[in-house]
Amino acid sequence: MIGSGGIEGELARRARREGLVALSISRSRVYRNVAAVLARRDAAGLRDGMQFTYRNPARSTDPAATLPGARSVVSAAWPYGRSSLGQTPSVIARYARRDSYGELRERLARLGEVLEEAGHIVRVVADSNALVDKEPAVRGGGGWYLKNSLYGVPAHGSMVVIGSIITDAALTPTRPRGRMTGCGSCTACIGACPTGAILPEGAVDARRCISWQLQKPGLLNADIAEAMGVRVYGCDICQEVCPYNRRNAEGEADALAQLEELAGILRTGDAELLGHYSHLYLPGRDPSVLKRNALAALGNLGGGPAAPRALSLLSTWVDSDNPVLAVTAARSLERLAGSSKE
Ligand code: SF4
Ligand code: SF4
Repeated sequence: MIGSGGIEGELARRARREGLVALSISRSRVYRNVAAVLARRDAAGLRDGMQFTYRNPARSTDPAATLPGARSVVSAAWPYGRSSLGQTPSVIARYARRDSYGELRERLARLGEVLEEAGHIVRVVADSNALVDKEPAVRGGGGWYLKNSLYGVPAHGSMVVIGSIITDAALTPTRPRGRMTGCGSCTACIGACPTGAILPEGAVDARRCISWQLQKPGLLNADIAEAMGVRVYGCDICQEVCPYNRRNAEGEADALAQLEELAGILRTGDAELLGHYSHLYLPGRDPSVLKRNALAALGNLGGGPAAPRALSLLSTWVDSDNPVLAVTAARSLERLAGSSKE
């Protein structure tokens, strides 16, 4: 909790005005505990080519590597959960339906002006390889680590994006919450993950995580293609079952509406698709990853009213010049034809 006086009080007022939640302040430190966890997970093969904060742990676990002379880290979250309710496309994970990180970054930049106006240096870091942002936020008591590897905050759960302001200002740290994890004995997400990707101690095996696999180029493994459901980017399952996110619960998606969304992605030209989803991480800025995922998702629409059109759409893609798209379409055709017979 931040007091009402001084620069910390002004930060709290500005954060509220910006719609930011779970504001916390911690001292800038080298996070050796996190560096050890990253090394352990990397050695166990859980990373599966993922870059992010694994790319350069010496940098990502030390705020001073981004801002020499750093003394404090201000952490804050922007809750996208309610604003994403009912937004299309539903085949895209909720944080990615809009440029949530872009919105967070702008808000953090305006929050950082409080420090700049007082003559301090700030670096805003959000969705970047530069910082393990959950660690300073947890140290400052903003929220908790969760078993599904995400960060949760009181009242908003894990449907938040989180960012940091690294500064040379010596701010008064906020109090830690007393425990680092917020799950207690709950294991709902572990049981709900369709691929068994959530391991003990809050680790997710990227080799089995649908969210990461949908971002990787190349052919999807058959078991991922089957388990991914009707998704094109991201996977919200381990958030939807989380009791912290109850107030953000979304109803069942309609298969015909999903078919429309998938067909829309497939008929959109590459340049337009890239422009529309410029805020998403796509390897090599190659929008064909989205088309591959849309073709794989068509195979999971089941034998209901969406099946006839999905089958005919897939059959037009089996001759694609792009071998990944052609094979994905053929596999989906087989899967969908199988479930249509059941
Ligand atoms: S994002 Fe999906 S696949 Fe990944 S851990 Fe969560 S439920 Fe499992
Ligand atoms: S579902 Fe339960 S175990 Fe999983 S993150 Fe939420 S509280 Fe933690």
